Amino acid sequence: MKEKKTCSFCGRGEGEVSLLITGLHGYICNECAEQAHLIVKEALGQKGKGLDKSALPDFTQMPRPEEIKRYLDQYIIGQDEAKKTLSVAVYNHYKRLGQTTEDDGVEIEKSNIIMVGQTGTGKTLLARTIARLIKVPFTIVDATVFTEAGYVGEDVESILSRLLQVADYDVQKAQCGIVFIDEIDKIARKQDNPSITRDVSGEGVQQGLLKLLEGAEVNVPPKGGRKHPDQDYIKVDTSNILFICGGAFDGIERKIAQRLNTHTVGYNAIQNVTHIDSDNLMQYVMPQDLKSFGLIPEIIGRLPVLTYLNPLDRDALHRILIEPKNSLVRQYQKLMQMDGITLRFNRDALDYMVDKAVEYKLGARGLRSIMEAVMRQPMFELPGSGRKTFTVTRALVEQQLTQAIPC
Ligand code: ADP
Repeated sequence: MKEKKTCSFCGRGEGEVSLLITGLHGYICNECAEQAHLIVKEALGQKGKGLDKSALPDFTQMPRPEEIKRYLDQYIIGQDEAKKTLSVAVYNHYKRLGQTTEDDGVEIEKSNIIMVGQTGTGKTLLARTIARLIKVPFTIVDATVFTEAGYVGEDVESILSRLLQVADYDVQKAQCGIVFIDEIDKIARKQDNPSITRDVSGEGVQQGLLKLLEGAEVNVPPKGGRKHPDQDYIKVDTSNILFICGGAFDGIERKIAQRLNTHTVGYNAIQNVTHIDSDNLMQYVMPQDLKSFGLIPEIIGRLPVLTYLNPLDRDALHRILIEPKNSLVRQYQKLMQMDGITLRFNRDALDYMVDKAVEYKLGARGLRSIMEAVMRQPMFELPGSGRKTFTVTRALVEQQLTQAIPC
């Protein structure tokens, strides 16, 4: 007679449950499996409260700030200030994770970072490149998807859902991770907001974010999105998560200029005034400018490391085309190499592309679409043509760009 299969936990038979999973010496039904899952999660949640040092990456293996910067130099042109700031911050983050407070009672607080710089100057690239080097979970989220509780959009807690996902739902690992929040300027308070009770994309979101930046125990919906009452949550403590925020802060130069002008009245400002580089006011950014822009003081206080990215001039754009390890020129050369074709770019062809990128005001982001437009036809014709070399000339660039963007 065939043996009757029953759940080894609740004793119910095959017909009484929706699913019976077979093990080596018994069975478990779907309901008991779910129950077991909850018990495990609760137990791990308890454990998650403190930081389990054994789960941490080995601090002695961590590259020193100078090494981190050297690594960044291979991929990112210029932006030395931002590179140094990030290298130190990430290195300190590791040190902080490995700290022991038992001996001296000194507790190193975390220093979240804010990067200010025009679009396409390398903020995300910096964050991504660091992520490749370091060995803690890292995620990039966009602040524009968040809205205040009760409105369409995602809750700020979903930032942590993504971190949990990259940490394979290992709460301990996620709790030492790094989060890059892009477009932080888009949640600035709108000065001319007509509603006095609600600022859906502004202050409410900043308040929500504040909790995460400060360090709190947060209930995180494992799959992200919006919270709802019958969902199970995972508890994540954010006190050891490093937050790096980035934003273009369009128009902040005006606020900086205003502040610098007012200060010229002050006695110690006079000597500095002659040195002000009015083409790049971003380098003088101070926390009070972020406040004038619409970030609430509490948020600014929780982002104590403020750094900036320089606008990219012609020289920088030219270098970006050829120098980085995976520069656009190298990428297209590699593509052509796969067809046995050596691709060359004339200097004046590159100069023309740079001119166009400056004209489009998209920073280095413009270079990619320009290069794509220039190379579309050659990439269509060259494979299989039997040619061994191909040189991109200025005439070709001009011709391809007028076809792509008729003016
Ligand atoms: P954003 O500052 O808007 O975050 P990104 O980092 O996304 O700008 O830059 C867009 C693209 O432009 C990058 O993927 C990269 O190819 C290029 N780029 C921007 N800045 C630099 C730079 N300083 N060095 C090298 N490439 C850069």
